[in-house]
Amino acid sequence: MGDNMIYLDYSATTPVSYDVLESFNKASRDYIGNANSIHSLGVKSKALLNSATKQIAELLDVNCSELIYTSGATESNNLALIGYALKHKNRGRHIITTKLEHPSIYSIASYLETLGFEISYVDNDSDGLIDLEDLKSLIRNDTILISICGVNSETGVRQPLKTIRQVIKKENPNTIFHSDLTQALGKISINLHDVDMASFSGHKIFGPKGIGLLYKNDKIELEPVIHGSSKSSPLRPGTPPLPLIVALSKAIRLALTDLTKKEEYIRKLNEKIVNDLSHFPEIRFNKSKYSIPHILNISLMQIRPESFIHAMEEHEVYISTNTACSSNDLSTSVMALYNDKVRALTTIRISLSSITTIEEVNRFLTFFHGEYQRFIKLGRRN
Ligand code: PMP
Repeated sequence: MGDNMIYLDYSATTPVSYDVLESFNKASRDYIGNANSIHSLGVKSKALLNSATKQIAELLDVNCSELIYTSGATESNNLALIGYALKHKNRGRHIITTKLEHPSIYSIASYLETLGFEISYVDNDSDGLIDLEDLKSLIRNDTILISICGVNSETGVRQPLKTIRQVIKKENPNTIFHSDLTQALGKISINLHDVDMASFSGHKIFGPKGIGLLYKNDKIELEPVIHGSSKSSPLRPGTPPLPLIVALSKAIRLALTDLTKKEEYIRKLNEKIVNDLSHFPEIRFNKSKYSIPHILNISLMQIRPESFIHAMEEHEVYISTNTACSSNDLSTSVMALYNDKVRALTTIRISLSSITTIEEVNRFLTFFHGEYQRFIKLGRRN
């Protein structure tokens, strides 16, 4: 990244780490065979594929057979929800999700509705936590699947997955629990035994873009969404992208190293920004005690967030509006928490990482002050 650049959009994507890129390059250079080929080059590639998968399985405490490589979390979410729904449609057609999901989940839910599935949206409280009583009341005999995001990408609110699983299994032991853990991996410790399926993405953890993962408990059957030559991975056919897979395993290993230490450091950066911006009485902090420190969402209230973000960009400061993937201007998660349209229309997200420096935060705050005061003086209202 450039010397003067202040990148604070790590929840949208991360730069690839040097070591990860080295692994990618080495695998691309030295392992040219298709892992599905039977000759020695293929066998050599297959051995590397297996060892990368073994490493990921050990890091995540699951079986190798429970890991499916995808192109990213969007595809993992598609395979989990559509794959499960299609396979089990004769058992039931009811699916539950929340108002705190990534936009990809809503697109999938709308698609499943066109196929005759019924989707219910569970309520949350003002701290952003799922209302467990509402969840209980929504679960029926024909509820086949529940998808609840582990860490919300806009506000950073973290759900108690273990408790949610207990509630689900008590109401209906046959209901499967999927969680989108894209914003959780490498930020907080996760236990995959709390869920039945989980989605991940490489580019959120300093890995390359174009590789993701679906964890699927061995007991669960899915219908493939992509059809093709299914030799090594029936649920995601095609030539395994070996360099991306090797890079992903390296990225996961690095992401899980010193997790608590990194989280504590990021918490200090987050607190510094919150303390500083608290001096502006109009700014709202869209967070609760369950928000992880890596994601800080605020509402500017009187200022159009797009204009503010572009003004900050003039100083080489990169922050985002609600999420990079959202197509409308309204933050659905902030709306779900506060039911306040102005607040939901004026959000900006500052996302931090372990490579963010205190010096960057200080410079960010200086630019923020300058631009914020300039905008207030100009009186630019929506
Ligand atoms: N889920 C969540 C929670 C996300 O934050 C993102 C990325 N914005 C995605 C899914 C989509 O991930 P990908 O870009 O890997 O498809």
